[in-house]
Amino acid sequence: MISRDLLFSAAYELNVRAATAIPSDVKKTITRMAEKEIQPLPRYVLKNMVDNYEIAEAEKRPMCSDTGLPRYYVKYGNEARNEGGFVALEAALRQAAEKATHDIPLRPNRVHPLTRKDYNNNVGAHAPSVDYSFEPEADWIEITSVHKGGLFGSDYRMLFPADGIGGIKRFYLDVIGEFFRRGMSCQPVTIGIGIGGTKDVCVKLGKEAACLRIVGDRHPDPEIAQLEEELIELGNSSGFGSMGLYGSQSVMDVHIEIAYAHTGGMPVAIHHFCLAQRRSTVRIHSNNSLTYREDPHWFTDYYRRETVE
Ligand code: SF4
Repeated sequence: MISRDLLFSAAYELNVRAATAIPSDVKKTITRMAEKEIQPLPRYVLKNMVDNYEIAEAEKRPMCSDTGLPRYYVKYGNEARNEGGFVALEAALRQAAEKATHDIPLRPNRVHPLTRKDYNNNVGAHAPSVDYSFEPEADWIEITSVHKGGLFGSDYRMLFPADGIGGIKRFYLDVIGEFFRRGMSCQPVTIGIGIGGTKDVCVKLGKEAACLRIVGDRHPDPEIAQLEEELIELGNSSGFGSMGLYGSQSVMDVHIEIAYAHTGGMPVAIHHFCLAQRRSTVRIHSNNSLTYREDPHWFTDYYRRETVE
């Protein structure tokens, strides 16, 4: 039985790690992009991003003054049990977000959408959000904390099936044009694309694709993997470099996830995950030990399953 106290302390530590330690896949990629960029101004900006990551890690401080929106993804093993059940789990996650906001500190970004009322703790109605998936035969619980930045850079479009890959590329470039030109999603970004499902499923998958796969990860379906690579190339040929400047290094990676759709449509959702990719994962074992890691491993074979069991 996984204890209530451990859920809280693990979730708190996750928030600290997410806020102050940039994942190594992201740091390596930005370092490589700084070397590849030939335009002096975006190259200078990229080098400063790397320096900024190092200062944040050394001083254990957030890497951006906008500390994003804390949220959680929970993968719950089918054989796992925790003290107090799901209600206690969610209480622990909300309490950890509140304490982390105070201690790190995080900017209290969450406000009432109309009155702008702010409890100064990043907790409120439907905040922080908690999304769930499940894993067969596992007796552990995994929690991923993401402090999502890139407020701008998300869009949705219902395409017709006949629009095909060309329609997806057009939408992809439209979103780049709309948000990169003012540096609005703080490039370089990882771009998540949800294709198919219903509108809500496609938007959810696009967000997860952006936030929960590490840079360099390719989809197991070779056709989707090839499209991911084409879109990286296309994005970096768009004329945009870091922070909306003229250059060639604005897209760290593209991750695509698909869901079966209505035969008459092809919904597509796009999300940009900004250069401050704050994510951290912990596996809480049934014996109450912890394993922290950088890769969320969210998209398991079971999560992507296609057929009747
Ligand atoms: S988009 Fe990311 S890097 Fe830009 S201000 Fe927001 S959190 Fe910071």
